[in-house]
Amino acid sequence: MRTADIRQRWIDFFESKGHHIAPSASLVSPDPSLLFTVAGMVPFIPYIIGSQTSAHPRVASVQKCIRTKDIEEVGKTTRHGTFFQMLGNFSFGDYFKQGAIEMAWELLTGSEDEGRYGFDPETLWVTIWEQDDEAEAALLEVGLPAERIVKLPREEIFWDTGQPGPAGPCAEWHVDRGPEFGPDYDPASGAAGWTDEIGDRYLEIWNLVFDQFLRGPGSGKDYPLIRELDQKAIDTGAGLERIAFLKQGVSNMYEIDEVFPVIEKAQELSGRQYKANGEDDVRMRVIADHVRSAMMLMHDGVVPGNEGRGYVLRRLLRRTVRAMRLLGVEDPSLTILMDTSYRAMSASYPELSGSIDRITGIAGSEEESFRRTLTQGTTMLDTAVAKAKTAGTSALSGKDAFQLHDTYGFPIDLTLEMAAEQGVSVDEAGFRSLMAEQRDRARADAKAKKGGHADVSVYQAVGAQTPTTFRGYDELALVSTV
Ligand code: ATP
Ligand code: MG
Ligand code: MG
Ligand code: MG
Repeated sequence: MRTADIRQRWIDFFESKGHHIAPSASLVSPDPSLLFTVAGMVPFIPYIIGSQTSAHPRVASVQKCIRTKDIEEVGKTTRHGTFFQMLGNFSFGDYFKQGAIEMAWELLTGSEDEGRYGFDPETLWVTIWEQDDEAEAALLEVGLPAERIVKLPREEIFWDTGQPGPAGPCAEWHVDRGPEFGPDYDPASGAAGWTDEIGDRYLEIWNLVFDQFLRGPGSGKDYPLIRELDQKAIDTGAGLERIAFLKQGVSNMYEIDEVFPVIEKAQELSGRQYKANGEDDVRMRVIADHVRSAMMLMHDGVVPGNEGRGYVLRRLLRRTVRAMRLLGVEDPSLTILMDTSYRAMSASYPELSGSIDRITGIAGSEEESFRRTLTQGTTMLDTAVAKAKTAGTSALSGKDAFQLHDTYGFPIDLTLEMAAEQGVSVDEAGFRSLMAEQRDRARADAKAKKGGHADVSVYQAVGAQTPTTFRGYDELALVSTV
């Protein structure tokens, strides 16, 4: 099943169930509190929190998402991309738990010949909130046996916006890929045994959020549930790439039809084989992921820069160049890789044809300037290494590593790797303490700027427009530093 086919089946299914099909919003979040669109629900936040009424009580979409928070997982787990597509169905005061569960079951387990996904019902596991009797009853009724319903405490399975307002439990659907992908979950271990470690075997594919309660104040998940909401909502998100990798019988999301051609191109350019060496495999998957994310971000108007969205994009491009170098490719390769990604993605995003030349142009010049930086940084690194060797030490000082980072944008792992190539280690602790000092200085600066005399009228204006500030996905939008 091609990825474009899985996406179309989603649209057709929910259209047949009376949903209005909404186009994907931009990756640049329509919600001002977020850097990027991190979930399918982002464009619908006002309908979910009830501050606006939707013209359509039932909506479905295939939303482009960016989660920078997952960047370190890319290529190492089977299932985290910085870019991915979230399939979603939403109900604003229309169907609730039972309807959402019945539709999920029908679409997942229905036969492929009838336009469904054809998962074996025996492989499905669902996690729910331990007090959610209504979800449990609906799951049992569709045919999921009690042994494959795992009950979790509120801390692990509740959605909220981080402040008083709507909140509710989720039901998360997982596909058991079998014992070759990890240890059995032991039902006797209860919630404690349902850990991240088994996540590549019991692959989470779909999260149904039941927006059920009005919550009061409190931190974390420790708040009172005041009453049931008058208008309840359903907000679901399923990972298109995760369903695709299961349906295509490949081992991870980077090997699906929309992503793998870039790995093949990286093999060709480097002369190295995928699946011959674990480290190279991670590099190739990182390349395939980052090239695609960068392309999609640039299509939505983001350009490389030193802060915010532009910095995220720059980091994705630089990590790609670096990964190619570690595969032994010194020549420019970004535009070639991006063109490959474009061809793999154009069935789902034909609109890319109008922007791909602009995109590869930007990528090419970014690569060129990073290559210059690398050359300059390498000269500095060589000098520092020579200095360390003359001084009779076998470690590069934390100060040198910090300067490489600060002046040339060298990530610490690049410094570590390049120093190691010359038989020298790095005083990492020294580097980290200088980084911490810099962070403290930046924090103190920011605090000083926010001091008592700051003009707060601008915040008041924002407050007036958005009576409830959505903060539920704040952490997902954080830009981690290089
Ligand atoms: P995980 O626990 O695997 O990190 P999640 O619980 O953070 O996933 P949700 O926020 O529930 O994910 O998002 C809904 C769905 O979107 C997930 O069930 C998954 O199928 C998909 N998804 C989430 N993050 C990613 C990602 N980084 N790459 C690909 N798909 C993702
Ligand atoms: Mg996650
Ligand atoms: Mg999860
Ligand atoms: Mg989830």
